[in-house]
Order: sequence, then C-alpha cells, then structure tokens
Amino acid sequence: MKINRRHFLTSAIGVGLLSGVNRCQPIGEKVGISVEELDRAVAQPVLKTNYFSSPVNIESIELLYNGRDYLVRSRSTDGAVGIAVTNTRAGYLYPILNQLVIPFFLGKDARNLDSLLFEVYRYRSNYKLSGLALWCCVAWVEFSLLDLLGKIAKKPVGELIGNVIRREIPVYIASGRRDTTSEEEVELLKKSIEETGVKAVKFKVGGRMSNNADAMPGRTEKLIPLARKVLGDDIAIHADSNSSYDPPKAIEVGRMLEDINTVFFEEPCLFDHLEDTKKVADALTIPIAWGEQETSIRRFRWMIQNNGVQVVQPDLHYNGGFIRTRRIERMAAVAGLPTTLHISGGLGYVDMLHFASCTPDIGKYQEYKENVTETGKLYEPPLRLKDGAINVPSGPGLGITHINELLRNAKKIV
Ligand SMILES: [Mg+2]
Repeated sequence: MKINRRHFLTSAIGVGLLSGVNRCQPIGEKVGISVEELDRAVAQPVLKTNYFSSPVNIESIELLYNGRDYLVRSRSTDGAVGIAVTNTRAGYLYPILNQLVIPFFLGKDARNLDSLLFEVYRYRSNYKLSGLALWCCVAWVEFSLLDLLGKIAKKPVGELIGNVIRREIPVYIASGRRDTTSEEEVELLKKSIEETGVKAVKFKVGGRMSNNADAMPGRTEKLIPLARKVLGDDIAIHADSNSSYDPPKAIEVGRMLEDINTVFFEEPCLFDHLEDTKKVADALTIPIAWGEQETSIRRFRWMIQNNGVQVVQPDLHYNGGFIRTRRIERMAAVAGLPTTLHISGGLGYVDMLHFASCTPDIGKYQEYKENVTETGKLYEPPLRLKDGAINVPSGPGLGITHINELLRNAKKIV
C-alpha cells in the first residue's frame, strides 16, 4: 500500500525515526505558512545580551595555525579571550578572513553580534562574495566571539543563543565513501556500529554531482536493500546523494529508500535547484534533507514555505555561524520541521553538539564522522561516544578546556 508522507510520519516507524517532530503538524504538509510568519521568526533577536552589563569591545582578532588546525583568537579590551577552530577551508580562505571580515569587527561591541552579522555582509560590498567562502569566514569570527562572550558570562554557547535542554546528543555515523563496493560499504557500516554502539548510519548513493551516474555500476541499487538486510531493522538508515540526480532518477532511488524506511534522503538533486528538489519531495513519502550548501535566508525560506524540504540541514560553518543558523531553525520550527545540522570536519561535530543542546526539534540523530576519541580529549570531562550519543561540553563558551594543546606552536597567519 502506498502511504503519503503524513501517514509515514504518524506511523510507528515514522514516529520512531523522527521523534521530536511535532506530530500534530505533519512534516512537509503544513500549508498556508505566510512569508510574513517566517520573516517574523527570522527577525527575533538571538544573542542574549542580558548577561553583559557593559560593552565588550573587540580589540583584536587573529588567525593562527598550529601545524594541524587553524584557530581564530579574539580578545576584548578588558582581556577576555575567545578561541575557535575553523574547518580546513581556512587554508585557502584566509585572505577573505583577514582582509574582508576581521577588520570589520575590530573596535565593535561584541554584544551587537546580531546586527554585526548583517553589517559585515555590507562592509566593503562583501555581499558580492555571498556564498560559503564568505560565510565560513564570518562563522569563525562569530564562534570565537561567542566563546569570548561565554567566558565572560560563564555560560556555554547554548545558553547564549537559547536554553540548554539536552546534554547527550544521539548521532548517526556518516560514511563519506564511494570507492567501496556495496558489500564493502555495508561491512564497514556494520563494523562502525559494532565498535561504537551507534544506532544510526548514513551512506552515499549516486556519484556526487554526477548527472545520474553511479559511483560504480549498480552500486546504489545493490547497496540500499543490502544495508537493510545486513544491518537489520533496528538501525536507522540515512542516505545522501550529494546532488547526483535529476528528479526522475532521484524518485526512482527514493522509492528504494522508502522500501527500507530510510530516515531521510539528503540532497537528491542539484543543491541549488530548489524546484527539482521540491519535485522529489512532493513525489516521495520519506523526508528530504537539504541545506548544507545554502547560505541564503530567503532560499531557506522558499524551501520551508513550499515544502521542498522536510529536514532542514544547514552547516554552522558554511552558513555563517550559530546566530544565522538559529534564524533558519526558527523558520523550520514555524513549519513544524526539525533542524538536523550538516557538520564540517575537525571540531565541526562539537559545534553541532552545542547547537543541538539548545534546539527544541533536532530530529532524532545528528551527523558524526568518527573523531571523538582524538579531539574529545580537549574537553573536561572528555567528549565520548557512549550508547550512540555524545556528551555536550559543559564549560563556558565553546567549552574547550585544554586550550594550550591547541595553542602549542601556533603562529599567526597574515
Ligand atoms: Mg551531504
């Protein structure tokens, strides 16, 4: 029997896989949301400024490199310090950061972050670079300033942009591989599940921006049923095509994903082809996840208002930071949709933990790419993956305890 998305989401399997979704408002089927409603959600202040009784003037912001990670260190005139870790793209985006983003923030009051994030877009016509190359750089400065503000307020980032409502975040392990055969891929996923205790995984389908071509002939068609057969019914399965398909092929692959009760189908069509993505969402019963490359609040709004997406999936780094992403999440909440972040590498999963800690509807599982054993040691208590969930850092700001480990041999990049 063919079921529509409403029935899927109110069925036992749908409820189990997407707990947290407001079941009175069927996902992707809420109609009549006005642009004005969504705009009102976006316009609400995000940063809680009541923790700060006097100005927090930004004295310096520097990009550092320690031989492995790029760091952004900010200082206030009162001596507060914030440190954030970038994603690896800083290795080639640093001229934008150093020349077009950092200078704008110097001398400003960090309590005004909400408005500064728009003003930096106007500064030196930065809006002409609009896209993730610009917004990554803005995000790294924002992370660093939120860390600084959190240290002054003695509050974790989650308390600066909301209320911390959970301290354990269930994750799915995301495989990034397409060089595996379907059999090899399923074995690797099985091994990850056995080693970590996670209850959820994601694999790649299609060939990545590949105009319907598969990574290798027949891989996707074999992988989908094989994964369910080998991993069993208790594992939540997610699939990501990375913009591989046109709508007919995406719908064909989506039907196979429906057959195995996939939690969501991510980026079925070219990521900036909003209409094609909506066509697929309209045809399928499973939710479409979308938004990792998106940086436009208006395009997020269009997709949310038009039911083109059912799991809203911005990336904190690509989308310009916590505050801009909170605005997207608020629009999603108006439509009854979960916000399940895409993550950048490195400490991107920790940024996700903070955001998920204070976001009412995160869906069920957040993305994770297996490096907590290494980087979790930077925190006290250390971050660890246990029973399929990672603990949220409890310290102020971004919560890194052993900051000197990061700063060892760090040199300024100009
Ligand atoms: Mg993806």
